[in-house]
Amino acid sequence: MPYIDWKKLKARVSLREILAHYGLLGELTDTAHGFEGVCPLCGSKAFKVNVEKNAWFCFGTCKAEAKAKGEQAGGNILDFVARMERVSVKEAAARIVAWFPEEKGGNEPMQKQEDAAPRRQEPAGATGGEGNSKPLPTPKEAPRAAPSVPDFFDFENKPLSFALKGIDAGHEEMVALGVTAAIATRYGAGYFTGKGSMAGRVVFPFHDEGGQIVGYAGYEAHDRSWKYPAADKFNPARAVFGMYQAKDDGAGVDMLAVCRTPLAALQYRSAYPAVIPIAITTDTLSAYQEDVLADLMNGREQLLFIAAREDLHAIDILGRLLERYFVKYVRT
Ligand SMILES: [Zn+2]
Repeated sequence: MPYIDWKKLKARVSLREILAHYGLLGELTDTAHGFEGVCPLCGSKAFKVNVEKNAWFCFGTCKAEAKAKGEQAGGNILDFVARMERVSVKEAAARIVAWFPEEKGGNEPMQKQEDAAPRRQEPAGATGGEGNSKPLPTPKEAPRAAPSVPDFFDFENKPLSFALKGIDAGHEEMVALGVTAAIATRYGAGYFTGKGSMAGRVVFPFHDEGGQIVGYAGYEAHDRSWKYPAADKFNPARAVFGMYQAKDDGAGVDMLAVCRTPLAALQYRSAYPAVIPIAITTDTLSAYQEDVLADLMNGREQLLFIAAREDLHAIDILGRLLERYFVKYVRT
């Protein structure tokens, strides 16, 4: 598959064109910012499109399903086509290019690269760097891609007015998951022994910069499902799990690890105490998360990115990280 620049593709093909490709424009009604109507993915009458932001969101069944997986029920053209076609984001990009081929004599020829597989970059001089030291091409200044979480649903997280009581950091389930009691305690995580929607789950609090809890994620070890607060209560695009602890514990630490779930972050720190983990749980890197990360990196250039093989959005985030850092990509 030829290399496709996702950022350019998103800038070149609008969400309106994609909706027209599917013959959906006539079925949606106009709103101040775009369209709304029946969701082509789930059939709920809760589909909204912002044409200025090139973003879509479904507040219906999609949202409920995505929430269970800790994902967002919306995004950009790539997310939309991936779900419509039931293919990976990479394959969605290829299909969009096939439907909307780049005009000849356009801006510039597509860059030739072998494929879109993640490049592994090593920091200069880290590991016998001399051998393959072709200088990297100077990157052109490109406009930053918009986060795929639509801005019009973007809001700051407020500190919760309550804290869950009955969190057992040393519970046998934590041990089974590979999280030590000391690490769980440090992050306020543990098996929740109380009642309510988080009953029987391992809970992980998200803190804001000041260390206040803004939301809990709950993990059910048996079906490996995640539970997050309602989308109007907690905005995962304005949250980075572990950032408060990373700020405190990060001085003098060699490496920051970007994980994809709070559990992965704590498993990682339990196994490698010298690595400070955070978790980005959204399907793309928001501007807020990018800023938090830059702050935590504090001039350091190399980080670890840890993602599961089946994580479809990992490549998108990896691409964003590679724009700024040397990334060691660990697939689990
Ligand atoms: Zn839907």
